Amino acid sequence: MEIPQGAKKPKFETTFLMRKNGVEKAFSLADYPDSTWTFVDSKTVQIEAGYVPPIHDFAIERMNDGQDITNEVLSDSGYTFLLISPHLEQADDSNFGAIDQIFEYAQEEHIPFYCLTASTKEAITKWEDITGAEYPFCTTDETTLKTMIRSNPGLMLLKNGEIIRKWSHNDLPKGDELNAPLQQLSIGKMPTDSVPGKILKILLWFVLPLLVLTVADRMWAWTRWLKRKEESNKIYQRLKRRKTMRKKIVAGNWKMNLNLQEGVALAKELNTSLTAEKPNCGVIICTPFIHLASVAGVLNQDIIGLGAENCADKEKGAFTGEVSAEMVKSTGAQYVILGHSERRQYYNETPEILKEKVLLALKNGLKVIFCIGETLEEREANKQNDVCKAELEGSVFNLSAEEFKNVIIAYEPIWAIGTGKTATADQAEEIHAFVRSVIADKYGKEVAEDTTILYGGSCKASNAPELFSKPDIDGGLIGGASLKAADFKGIIDAWK
Ligand code: PEP
Repeated sequence: MEIPQGAKKPKFETTFLMRKNGVEKAFSLADYPDSTWTFVDSKTVQIEAGYVPPIHDFAIERMNDGQDITNEVLSDSGYTFLLISPHLEQADDSNFGAIDQIFEYAQEEHIPFYCLTASTKEAITKWEDITGAEYPFCTTDETTLKTMIRSNPGLMLLKNGEIIRKWSHNDLPKGDELNAPLQQLSIGKMPTDSVPGKILKILLWFVLPLLVLTVADRMWAWTRWLKRKEESNKIYQRLKRRKTMRKKIVAGNWKMNLNLQEGVALAKELNTSLTAEKPNCGVIICTPFIHLASVAGVLNQDIIGLGAENCADKEKGAFTGEVSAEMVKSTGAQYVILGHSERRQYYNETPEILKEKVLLALKNGLKVIFCIGETLEEREANKQNDVCKAELEGSVFNLSAEEFKNVIIAYEPIWAIGTGKTATADQAEEIHAFVRSVIADKYGKEVAEDTTILYGGSCKASNAPELFSKPDIDGGLIGGASLKAADFKGIIDAWK
C-alpha cells in the first residue's frame, strides 16, 4: 500500500475558469489573473502517471463509529480474524454455526474478529438476525473484498498484518480443532508447504487423476476402435467371401449301376430325405440316360439337380446309340459329366472329342462337370500338375470366360477312383490350388475364385469332412458312395 521513497509521483494540472465583463476565460496557476476577474469554476486533470501501489483502495472503516481501523488491523503484531463478505445479502448462511464458534474462540483468546463487508446497514441487520452474529462489522470496498477471497463468506487469519490462512465457509476449522491458543495450533502458523511440494500436491490431487482418467478414456476409445475395426474387418471378410463365394456341391455319379426302378427309388428316397432336412450345399445326381426323364419327374430340382453321365460329340443325325446334349436337356437335366477318366480310358475320348462335347453341352444350356486327373504312374512321376493343366487346355480353355462360368471342375486322380485309395486332404488341396491358379492365369483371379472344383476318388462320409475343410476343395464327385441314400447323405452332411 505504501509508495516507496523517490517513486515517481503523478502530475496534475488545474485550470481556472474566470469571468470579467461577461467574458469567461480559462487560466492556469502560472497566469492566474488579478482580482478584477471573478472565479467561476476549476478543473484538475492528471497529466502524467505516477507510481500506483499494488494494493490501493484498501480501507477498513468500523461501522458503528465510522473510524478507519486499517492501520490498527494491519499493524497488529498478533492474530486477527477477518470474515469477508462483499455482500451479506448474497452470502451463504449455512455455516453460520461454525463462524459463531470461531468468533467465540477469538473472544476467549482475545483475538480481534471483524466482518468486512460492502453491504448496507439493513443487510447487516438481516444477517445478524439470521445468524445471531455478534461480531463487529466494518466497511471495505466491494471489489477489494472480492479480490481477497472468492468464497462468500470466507475467513482470513492475519498475523502481524500478513495473511497466514484462508478458508471457504464450507471448510472452516471445527470447534474441536480450536482447543488451544492459536500459537500452539497448526492453523496458527504459516503453511510450510514448499513450492515444489505444492506443485506435487496439485499434481497428485488434480493432474494425476486427470491423467489417469484421460489414459482410461483413451484406452476405452482405443479398444472400441479396435473392436469396430475388427467388426468392420469381419463384415468386409464376410462380404468378400460372399462376393467370391463359389458353390459348394456334392454330385453323385451313378455310372452303370442301377436299373430304372432302382434309380427312381433312390432318387425318391434322396428327394424325401433332403426335402425334410435341407442340405448346406448344392446336390446333383448324374444318372444313366434312361433314368433321366423318370428321375426328373420325382426330384425337386431346387434341392437336387439332375445330370447325365455323358453326351454325344455330335449335334444330331445318324449316330446310332448316341444321346445328344439337346436330348439330355430335353429330359429336364441341367448338368452333364464330361471327361470322366473311364470315358477317356475305355471309350477313347480324346481332348478334341471332349472339346466338342463341352461346346455342345454349353450350347444346349447344360452345365458341364469336367473331370481331370492323373494316373498312378503320372503321379509317381510327379506329373499330376502337367496332366491336369493339359487336360484343361485341351478341352475347356478354348471357352470364353463367360462360357467357362458354366463349367465345374472335378479333380479325380485315376488311382483313387473306385480303388478305396483316397488322395490325402493335403495332396488334394495342393492340386486344387494349382488348378485354381491355372484358371486364374487363363481367366483372371475373379473367375478362378468363383470356379467350383470338386474332388473325386473314393470319397465317403468318413473322409469328406477333412477333404471339404480345405480352402480350395469345394465338394465332391462321388461314385460308389452315391448309390445308397444314407452314404450319399453322409457326405452331403459333411458341409454341416
Ligand atoms: C467317380 O467315378 O467319379 C468316383 C469318384 O468314384 P468313386 O467315388 O467310387 O471313387
